[in-house]
Amino acid sequence: MINSLFANFCILVAFLFLSGMLSKKYAVIGRHTSSVTSIGIGLLFGLFGMILMEYSFPVGPGIYANLRHLTIVIVSAYIGWLPAIICAAVLALSRVLIYGLVDTSVSAFVSLVLIGLCCSWISVLRWSRMRKVMVGNLISMAICLAGFIISLGDLKIIMEFFPLQLGVTLAAGLAVYYIAEYIQRSNDLYAQLEVRAATDYLTNLNNLHQFHRHLDTEMARAERHGESLSLLLIDIDHFKNINDTYGHPAGDAVLKQLARRLCNHSRSYDIVSRNGGEEFTILLPDCPLHQAQKAGERIRSAVENDRFLLPSGNKIHLTVSIGAASYPENIQDADGDLLSQYADKALYAAKNSGRNKVCAADTYGEG
Ligand code: GH3
Ligand code: MG
Ligand code: MG
Repeated sequence: MINSLFANFCILVAFLFLSGMLSKKYAVIGRHTSSVTSIGIGLLFGLFGMILMEYSFPVGPGIYANLRHLTIVIVSAYIGWLPAIICAAVLALSRVLIYGLVDTSVSAFVSLVLIGLCCSWISVLRWSRMRKVMVGNLISMAICLAGFIISLGDLKIIMEFFPLQLGVTLAAGLAVYYIAEYIQRSNDLYAQLEVRAATDYLTNLNNLHQFHRHLDTEMARAERHGESLSLLLIDIDHFKNINDTYGHPAGDAVLKQLARRLCNHSRSYDIVSRNGGEEFTILLPDCPLHQAQKAGERIRSAVENDRFLLPSGNKIHLTVSIGAASYPENIQDADGDLLSQYADKALYAAKNSGRNKVCAADTYGEG
């Protein structure tokens, strides 16, 4: 019996790692999981439980011990009530379908349905996951014991295997909990790292790395669909003076407010990034140069007419210079780096011709 339960435990751990990999890939997170995903998870864990049944240990005529109920307990604690019900339904139905409609199957069917209902109820309580797993496990074992008593009717036989099964199950429940927590924590950390690696810490815009990824994908898309792609390179004029006059925190506050305003003045599918320091970019998919210039002009004039609030309560004015470049007007090859270089030249032209201006790459001459 101990061999079967150990095999059950090892299979369950393998399933947990597989589920962890899937949940990382599809970003499945507890209560934010959609109904369709919940149903899929319920079916998957039901399947896991069915495989565990294959490694059961017969403890009486038509009665088998295994850890299949832990699939219901785990899915209820980590995902929610819906997959727990579905997992229990799959296990209950498969028990009857695989072993036939004998008395023991009916009692196993009823036990599994009851376990499903209890675990679903536990899943909505404001308990820690540890408590949910441990209490769900204990209740499941109590229901199994009641099922054994009804099916076997002989406490002496039950006491020959049940204490060991209970001990192994509780230990397995605890081990499975710690493994599931480990998987959950590493998935969370991975998700956080992914966001941090792509986001600018100060403004929450895309960072330079993410800007380049977007530039490459958007350029490839523009080339494929024969569309235009424009780039606005935006640099705050004399930003150093703001830092020098009001302090670095004031400069940071200005950067954050400008980031918000750039987003507000962009279309929902434009890609706004902070490429470093006081330099921002907006990628405008499906936007030709003359429209990009107009968009740049709208932003320039909005910034000029807005006031920026400093931590001291003072409000200041500032201006930006903007360089615009477009594919395919300025560059024939769908090359993101080249587009950046042209926008940079245009920005340089705007700075050199008095600042607070929008210059397009073709107005610079070399574009
Ligand atoms: P120009 O009009 O020619 O663009 O002049 P500028 O002063 O805006 O440009 P410059 O490159 O001389 O200075 C940029 C300044 O931006 C210098 C640097 O201290 C400041 N800076 C860079 N990153 C940050 C940041 O994260 N926070 C703050 N507050 N300042 C920053
Ligand atoms: Mg500047
Ligand atoms: Mg600069």
